[in-house]
Amino acid sequence: MILVLVETDASGAVEVSRETLSFARDLSASGGGVPVDAVVVGEPACPAGELATQLAAYGVRDVHHATGDAFGSYGGAAWASAVQSVRETAGSVVVTAAGTPRGMEVLAHLAARLGVAMAANVVAFDGLAPFTVTRQVVGGAALEDMVLGERPAIFTVAGHAVEATPAANPGEGRVVTTTPEVAPADLVARVVSAEPAQEDLSGGLKSARVVVGAGRGAGSADGFGDLLELVDLLDGALGVSRVVTSLGWRPHHEQVGQTGSRISPDLYVACGISGAIQHWAGCASAKTIVAINTDPDAPMVAKAHYAVIGDLHEIVPAINEEIRRRRSA
Ligand SMILES: Cc1cc2nc3c(=O)[nH]c(=O)nc-3n(C[C@H](O)[C@H](O)[C@H](O)COP(=O)(O)OP(=O)(O)OC[C@H]3O[C@@H](n4cnc5c(N)ncnc54)[C@H](O)[C@@H]3O)c2cc1C
Repeated sequence: MILVLVETDASGAVEVSRETLSFARDLSASGGGVPVDAVVVGEPACPAGELATQLAAYGVRDVHHATGDAFGSYGGAAWASAVQSVRETAGSVVVTAAGTPRGMEVLAHLAARLGVAMAANVVAFDGLAPFTVTRQVVGGAALEDMVLGERPAIFTVAGHAVEATPAANPGEGRVVTTTPEVAPADLVARVVSAEPAQEDLSGGLKSARVVVGAGRGAGSADGFGDLLELVDLLDGALGVSRVVTSLGWRPHHEQVGQTGSRISPDLYVACGISGAIQHWAGCASAKTIVAINTDPDAPMVAKAHYAVIGDLHEIVPAINEEIRRRRSA
């Protein structure tokens, strides 16, 4: 059995947990269809019945709900203890979770307890005998193959490595309630207070059909005038590279990439952006990419569908002018 630690919010399983369930289902299909079970620790933020129905749609057989005072607030060791107890009772050979801070912490605790390796940020599996996974390393700049020779195989799945897709054959989503014992030592470190997350201001960027990207080539905080006009003319959103946010030219919620937003617009116009792997991680799924860059050898130019070689401060105003001219014609 494959056991997936699922995190929840008011809408049910969070997106990256649903992605992990999709990944686990693919793994199960390659391995002859072993069941995929979910483990939910503490009280979910949505009604348990709704959660079970949602998880069944993602192919989950049993939802192991670990409940009790020990899980009233989050603690990495306590959660790992619950996952370990469910795993031992249900007998899973694979334990996985989304590569969130919580998923990473809980599975690292679990792996340490069981004395096995843990692979973080897995993006694919390459074979089952031996069980080989491909994972992101060096902040996503490189990929590494890792053989998980011990059982259980423990790994986290990188965010957006796969799409969250409901199963063709839904599971049962039976709820199995359990109240695992937790050793006092596992309750020492716990969350004692939490602050509400800051409002996510990047929603418009994530859903925009057209994104105009801007990198260091913009030149300065004052170099965005023409780019913002192009955003306006195309009814799109501005997305920037990390250099731009690090220099304080634009706010962080506009950043595209591994540590920014993942976007998949119909059109991405990448202006003065080199196309480093960490930026590419956020824009690779754009349907059409146009690069505007002074360097014909920039990685973004090589990866784009179309490229214009030149100074963005000349090309973007010319594009704006042409759009205005055609609209008024
Ligand atoms: C752990 C980690 C996470 C990261 N996460 C992200 C992330 O989420 N998003 C992200 O973007 N980066 C991220 N980075 C940084 C990333 O590695 C690059 O440093 C960054 O993307 C480079 O930004 P840039 O392309 O704007 O700048 P540069 O690499 O300096 O490139 C500037 C480009 O502009 C071109 N140019 C210069 N002047 C002009 C002009 N006048 N007209 C046209 N073209 C011009 C140049 O030829 C060059 O190609 C991360 C790095 C690490 C280590």
